[in-house]
Amino acid sequence: MAHKITLIPGDGIGPEVAHAAKRCIEATGVKIEWEEVLAGQSAKEKFGDLLPEGVLTSIKKNKVALKGPIVTPIGEGFRSVNVAIRQSLDLYACVRPAKSYPGVKSYYRDIDLVVVRENSEDLYAGIEFEEGAPQTKNLIAEIEKYSKKKIRPDSGISIKPISKYASERIVRFAFEYAIKNKRKKITVVHKANIMKFTDGIFLKTSREVAQAYSGKVIFEEAIVDNMAMQLVQKPHNYDVLVLPNLYGDIISDLCAGLVGGLGVAPGANIGDNIAVFEAVHGSAPKYKGLNKVNPTAMILSGVLMLRHIGEDMAAVKLENAVKEVILEGKFVTYDLKPTPNDPTAVGTQEMADAIIKKIK
Ligand code: NAD
Repeated sequence: MAHKITLIPGDGIGPEVAHAAKRCIEATGVKIEWEEVLAGQSAKEKFGDLLPEGVLTSIKKNKVALKGPIVTPIGEGFRSVNVAIRQSLDLYACVRPAKSYPGVKSYYRDIDLVVVRENSEDLYAGIEFEEGAPQTKNLIAEIEKYSKKKIRPDSGISIKPISKYASERIVRFAFEYAIKNKRKKITVVHKANIMKFTDGIFLKTSREVAQAYSGKVIFEEAIVDNMAMQLVQKPHNYDVLVLPNLYGDIISDLCAGLVGGLGVAPGANIGDNIAVFEAVHGSAPKYKGLNKVNPTAMILSGVLMLRHIGEDMAAVKLENAVKEVILEGKFVTYDLKPTPNDPTAVGTQEMADAIIKKIK
């Protein structure tokens, strides 16, 4: 039976990389019935709405989506379509593998890390108070009353909620992920020495959850600033990292940098029953419609999606085909060539064609 999957082409380079990924996924032989829905600028132009209700309905029904990047408009109703999708569907785990593929330019070799980022709270909860607004002044007065500390009156305030509930489910998710994917070690990353009541909860809950997995997966702790240095100096010492939202965002970009950057960084946003797969990169508007950018990040997001739907053989075939094309270095986009102006660089679809030819 065919898998039913929602496809959101997205904005900018989204439709190009989504099309390339769709073709590569289909070439593995897995039967998929795609339900294509518009979100972002294209939806705004057609329906007057950045996130039409049909998008969430389709993802809820199919439980799996492959999504292109979506522009975050400045000054429109909500902050970001991407954040709205993650929050509405409670996709609380953001999983971003960072893996070296020989042939991709990088200072490091043989990196194989997975960042598991809490996706629902922390400073990304969107609870902010603008400098000078009356409620901000009231809030500052209340905080000063309870904390007996001074806040400058011209401050903006962002709230950082971290709950036991969300910490427990993300750390449990990371352990289950580690077991399922035969990973050996989990490092919980925090700043609990300074933020005792928020990161403190994250750390304490991690230690409690880890007890249930003792003997199965190694558990260790790292303070986030030290983690950043360790990852640059000794990235091979790490395996799966689990982090609160903000640190997860920053460290996952650092990890993408370790393996050659945005063109090759896939990702997934996962909840209890629903998963949305997307590249880490954005809509790169200056490359829109040029058939120029690297489709690899989106294709590797498709590999993660194939694994998620239980099509492991197809996932292996597709990943191996990507590896071969990158290693040969012939039919690859400009960013994978020795110099960006290399005249032998091929376009997005031509790189996808080369990958399709290698699928065995
Ligand atoms: P971006 O990732 O779109 O692009 C930054 C640069 O990275 C590009 O100019 C390009 O040089 C390079 N790049 C990105 N993808 C590439 C690829 N596939 N191949 C080769 N090079 C690639 O980041 P940005 O310019 O900060 O964001 C543009 C828009 O995308 C913004 O509106 C932002 O909000 C949105 N965005 C969306 C998502 C998402 O949908 N998940 C994620 C990040 C950014």
